[in-house]
Amino acid sequence: MSTEVYDCIVIGAGIQGSCTAYHLAKNKQKTLLLEQFLLPHSRGSSHGQTRIIRKAYEEDFYTQMMQESYELWAQLEREAGVQLYRRTGLLVMGPENRKGFSQLKATMEKNKIPVEFLEKKEFNQHIPNVNLTDGNGALVDTTAGVLYADRSLRAVQGLYQTNGGVIKDGEKVIDIKPGDVVTVTTGSGLYRGRSLVITAGPWANKLMTCAGLQLPLKVVKINVCYWEEKIPGTYSVDHQFPCFIQMEPKEGEYDIYGLPSNEYPGLMKVCYHMGSETEPDERDKQKDRGDIDILARYITRCLPGLVPVPAVVESCMYTVTPDHHFILDCHPTYSNIIIGAGFSGHGFKFSPVVGKVLSQLAMGQIPSHDLSPFSIHRFQSNARSSL
Ligand SMILES: Cc1cc2nc3c(=O)[nH]c(=O)nc-3n(C[C@H](O)[C@H](O)[C@H](O)COP(=O)(O)OP(=O)(O)OC[C@H]3O[C@@H](n4cnc5c(N)ncnc54)[C@H](O)[C@@H]3O)c2cc1C
Repeated sequence: MSTEVYDCIVIGAGIQGSCTAYHLAKNKQKTLLLEQFLLPHSRGSSHGQTRIIRKAYEEDFYTQMMQESYELWAQLEREAGVQLYRRTGLLVMGPENRKGFSQLKATMEKNKIPVEFLEKKEFNQHIPNVNLTDGNGALVDTTAGVLYADRSLRAVQGLYQTNGGVIKDGEKVIDIKPGDVVTVTTGSGLYRGRSLVITAGPWANKLMTCAGLQLPLKVVKINVCYWEEKIPGTYSVDHQFPCFIQMEPKEGEYDIYGLPSNEYPGLMKVCYHMGSETEPDERDKQKDRGDIDILARYITRCLPGLVPVPAVVESCMYTVTPDHHFILDCHPTYSNIIIGAGFSGHGFKFSPVVGKVLSQLAMGQIPSHDLSPFSIHRFQSNARSSL
């Protein structure tokens, strides 16, 4: 074992671990970022070219965290000298008489987020080629847009290294020994750190077994579907088509979201915000396509300019908590082990601010955001600490 002791070891080089490591290195912390796969890889949750960024949320705490997140994304763009965000606006549609849509509207107004409300009769003047479902309201979060995901991950990891951070990829962590100095064992060696951050995405529970903790996390496979435009360009970023979220397309269904055609010309990404349960290492054995049927029916009804059969289907995973809110907290027994998990399919846009608060916890500082909505204690009996 090397005698070297890091200020912090971060496990998992997805977007959350990479942003955490970046903030630590910027704060002159001697940091090691460990990743089980060779980088870059497409087996977790952070790969792919695009993600939606928005302030439109039902909860104040997300909307407020996003105010800072936008600033941090802009700072990352300046530091890396690359464009990571493209403003497109986000169209939100949802049943007017249901809590979700009216709550989101109220939160946006309360927090003074720039928003345009679209009346049914003028809807198609603003948003052609979309059929608004009867009984649905519509608004546009005008500062929302697209984040270039793969590019962001590369940029953050690059900046982390520029600030003196060390990445070791192809090193799977197989054991964690808590203590004032935490010892981490990988297939290749032992590392020691005064604090440890676990940002292992879908593998979080597997890894936390070695730290004596199990959280109520469900891993689901997402079919990332791209649909062909009947007339190329109809829903493209160059034709000012926005990202969209359709809340509760039918009673009891999860949201559907889409991004304007961009990464694959002529194809628009439209996905269902839930999938079927899987083991993270067996993702490709999960063949359920029930979500694709829901999407095809929605596209036939509401996006008539798309062929309702997916042209490309890729795979990704969500790690979902029971209330769909993140986990950003210290281990209940070991305050120098920090956990960032359960991003429930909406964590990418927050990663600069998530990285900042996880780094603050790792440095023993008071986090700059109220983390009570993200505490482990909220699960009470569902979180089991065996140490
Ligand atoms: C299809 C899809 C669409 C999405 N759309 C949006 C969106 O529009 N907007 C948005 O904000 N968010 C979105 N998200 C969510 C967002 O992408 C995730 O919340 C985020 O990427 C989670 O990052 P992570 O770092 O927690 O996980 P991951 O990216 O999975 O990273 C965890 C890393 O830990 C590594 N690891 C695990 N175990 C070990 C070990 N034992 N040793 C070493 N390394 C280990 C893994 O290999 C992995 O690289 C989407 C997600 C998906 C799948």
